This record gives sequence, C-alpha cells and structure tokens, in this order.
Amino acid sequence: MKISHVEHIGIAVKSLEEAIPFYQNVLGLSCYAIEEVTEQKVKTAFFQVGQTKIELLESTDPEGPIGKFIEKKGEGIHHIAFALDGGLQLALDELGTKDIQLIDKAPRKGAEGLNIAFLHPKSTHGVLTELCNK
Ligand code: ZN
Repeated sequence: MKISHVEHIGIAVKSLEEAIPFYQNVLGLSCYAIEEVTEQKVKTAFFQVGQTKIELLESTDPEGPIGKFIEKKGEGIHHIAFALDGGLQLALDELGTKDIQLIDKAPRKGAEGLNIAFLHPKSTHGVLTELCNK
C-alpha cells in the first residue's frame, strides 16, 4: 500500500461550539465545513492545515463511539487518518494477510464523501488509525 499524506487528525471534543473558537481565534484557522455523520453519531467541524485537516468530533449520542471515548479518556486526539494512493479494499486485503486487526473489513462512507476504514489500536501501537481515499 502507498500512503500519500496525513489526510486528517480526528480530535474528540465535548462541544464544537466551545472548541471551534480555539482553532479560529487562537490558532487563526478557519472552519470551512460542519457536517453530521449520523451513522457515526457525530457532528464534525473541519479546518484545513496545508494538505492536512483537523477534524473536530462532537458526539451526538453518549452511546456513540465518540461519546464513549470522551467518557473513558476525556477530550483529545481520537484518530489519525492517512490518505491512500490506490484502492482501499486492496489495502485492507493486504493488511489482513499481515495479521493487522481491522475494525472495517470493507470500506464505508465517512465525512466529506471519503471511503474510510479503521484499523484496531491493538494492531497499531495504540493509535486508532484510519485509511481513506476519494
Ligand atoms: Zn476521521
């Protein structure tokens, strides 16, 4: 598999409304999109930083993945997403043969219409890792 760049860094926050001003007013980035991903029970806010984005994630349901994450660990970095140069299913098949534990065995739709798949932190030295492509 070939990775081209860090597509985004996902950060779990309690409230987009409270977190966005830090990125906008303190870091001087501008939020260019807010999107709800119903399937993941999150509302996301995006900031472009070079080729990479910051994706803030607010839970819309305490039982959703971000709700549970914040309850356990508090706010903070949730995942890193790498952009693939090439097919996502092909990459997942390759990882399968290398005994990497996959959360998604097949690509699914994420925010911004990307195809995404997550690798289990048990196989990635503790970092929830997302692969994505357009
Ligand atoms: Zn992501």
